[in-house]
Amino acid sequence: MSGDLLFVNARQVVTCAGPGRARRGEEMNDAAIRDSVAVHVRDDTIVGVDRETELRAALPDATLIDCERGVLMPGFVDSHTHAVFGRARYDEQELRASGVPYMEIARRGGGIHASVRDLRARGEDELFALATPRLAALAASGVTTVEVKSGYGLSLDDELKTLRVIRRLASTLPMRIVPTWLGAHEIPLEYRDRTGGRREYVERLIHEMLPAVAAERLARFADVFCEPGVFTVDESRAILTASREAGLGIKLHADELSAGGGAELAAMLGATSADHLAAISEAGIAALAAAGTVATLLPATLLFLGKRDHAPARRMIDAGVGVAIATDFNPGTSPTTNFPLVLTLGVSQLRLSVAEAVVAATVNGAGALGLADRVGQLAPGFSADLALWAIDDVRELPYWLGTGRCRASWTRGKPCHPRDLGLAFPR
Ligand SMILES: [Zn+2]
Repeated sequence: MSGDLLFVNARQVVTCAGPGRARRGEEMNDAAIRDSVAVHVRDDTIVGVDRETELRAALPDATLIDCERGVLMPGFVDSHTHAVFGRARYDEQELRASGVPYMEIARRGGGIHASVRDLRARGEDELFALATPRLAALAASGVTTVEVKSGYGLSLDDELKTLRVIRRLASTLPMRIVPTWLGAHEIPLEYRDRTGGRREYVERLIHEMLPAVAAERLARFADVFCEPGVFTVDESRAILTASREAGLGIKLHADELSAGGGAELAAMLGATSADHLAAISEAGIAALAAAGTVATLLPATLLFLGKRDHAPARRMIDAGVGVAIATDFNPGTSPTTNFPLVLTLGVSQLRLSVAEAVVAATVNGAGALGLADRVGQLAPGFSADLALWAIDDVRELPYWLGTGRCRASWTRGKPCHPRDLGLAFPR
């Protein structure tokens, strides 16, 4: 048997083929859709996308994968998640709906500090067991690459524990998993409430946690929650500059609630991505465009929180920024693993075209992880990361609101849909 796979009988093949970098401006509006073509995969790599009749004739011994007249696409790249956590936080939802402010929810023991307390009390095995079906649920919605952040540990031991869980997930599940260290997610309570505590925590991040993370090679990126009331621009700059010097790529949670200079800082530091950006300023948009930093927008978070002030995606694209979309999967503000829902919100709330939403979810998601030269396209030389959808037209993907129609998915040419792995859905 040859090692050749041929994906045949697709009604549409959405290739997203083009330059191996994040797309910007007008470039985003082309998902390079083809019909009557097959995709040729050998081992973990795409060899070519060519006319089906010719490929079948040229490769008579290839293993055929019948797409049953569905739509074949690059797998989604979910470039922003907090997928390693303990218990769900459904108890906060009604409180928020009834108007209880976040600070009061936090005072009653909810909010991010609830997730921190909870994660610290659990062992690696338990966190791994909780995260596995959650990531499998992402794979079931067509995600083949996922970034997973730490950030509910906020101590040396608990951040390392989280990152080791992520490493174990990466070696166990077929999906491609990109680990990010987010020790600067919040100032932990034991530092926040005493004089000099905040400065001490920032010092520990830089001089204790970062060297340990770098020494064990546990993360590819460092991320900071840069927002007034969390980490200031100066603190973020210090943490990220040290992280870059330690060999990590850098990302920022920036301008989520107010335009505090986070996007400008991301641009100045040459960050791979700046994320959230609902409150970004015009100067911030211009800075991201000039620096080529990808703007990762997270519309499911605003939907879940009942907010309407979405990031200005259209103004960003018009200004030449490369826009990505992601789930922000986390227990507090975006408990969803439904990636097609994010596409729906990309079209209905961010006003993207379907092609722009698809590029934002594939090529530009890969760009937000520094992987755009090998992930996010069905094109020769790219990783064989594919998702097959039981739909007739790619425009159905954002149309069937909240409905999962992913039939199968592959990462590096290997099946990664939980149905193929015998994995259960999460509880
Ligand atoms: Zn986040």
